[in-house]
Amino acid sequence: AVSAAGREVKPQTYTSDGTRITILANINLLSDLKQARDVKCEGIGLYRTEFPFIIRSDFPSEQEQYITYKRLIDGVGDKPVIFRTLDVGGDKVLSYYHDAKEMNPAIGLRSIRFSLQNIEVFEDQIKAILRAGSNGDIGIMFPMISSLEEFETARAIVEECKEQLKKRGEEHISNPKIGLMLELPSLVEIIDDVVKESDFISIGTNDFIQFMVGVDRTNEKVSDFYIPHHPAVMRSLKRIVETADKHGKPVSMCGSMAGDKAFLPFLLGIGMRTLSISPSYIPEAQSVIEKIDISRAQKLADDICRTPRIAEIAKLLKIDHTPDS
Ligand code: PEP
Ligand code: MG
Repeated sequence: AVSAAGREVKPQTYTSDGTRITILANINLLSDLKQARDVKCEGIGLYRTEFPFIIRSDFPSEQEQYITYKRLIDGVGDKPVIFRTLDVGGDKVLSYYHDAKEMNPAIGLRSIRFSLQNIEVFEDQIKAILRAGSNGDIGIMFPMISSLEEFETARAIVEECKEQLKKRGEEHISNPKIGLMLELPSLVEIIDDVVKESDFISIGTNDFIQFMVGVDRTNEKVSDFYIPHHPAVMRSLKRIVETADKHGKPVSMCGSMAGDKAFLPFLLGIGMRTLSISPSYIPEAQSVIEKIDISRAQKLADDICRTPRIAEIAKLLKIDHTPDS
């Protein structure tokens, strides 16, 4: 396959020393699927299911969602698809629901909190996913999980939806993998327990960095303070990946750091082996990964995780962006 950038894309990705790296695609709408297929992704690591909701003028029914999800799964074939449940609120507003403005929408009634307060909307979505996935390789993941209880509550609703479908005699997947997005720093201190509970985790660095450094990811006035290479971010990522590995649980990254060429040596160095990337960045990421040597990447990652200063980490990563102060 030849990408839009004219680069030959291989169906599988290996580092220079032969370490296998899995590249999945992030998609927002069914229409993104063609590009994901063109760049030969190995599956969908993040389907942002709120986008089909955002472009409408009312909540889609279970059946309407089922049709969309089934078309996606059929289009992907036998490759895996991870459905991220509705992540509305914050900067992703539903015109037909959100009227009262929140003072701090990014930490307001959004994401899994919205779903757990709007159980019918949540259940319709879960049932649609379970039905569409009846013969597929699918995972369900909940965004913005902040505690074990929240994860367990959301997972119990999947069980409840399975019961409802059983009663209706509707075909559905009986054992989807159920995971969570690691986007809140609150999970880092309890990461052992989180990883034990969850079938898989996916790190959403866009939100994770926002909350770790306390900077609104959408506010240009403070964009200089949004520092992905902050030592607290770097060390947390290492800890998360090591803990997942220790428990033999799949860990991936689906935030935009996963497709950022400056961070790929670090990510591979801390043991990250699965990346979910926006399709347009996949060809370049693949060619960068092919030049990475894992033992050198490990040394770089160790050096970075020993460094307490932002500017020194920037130097190690060979990136320009350093804060003014
Ligand atoms: C993230 O927060 O990194 C993420 C992948 O989710 P979104 O960008 O949709 O918030
Ligand atoms: Mg997010």
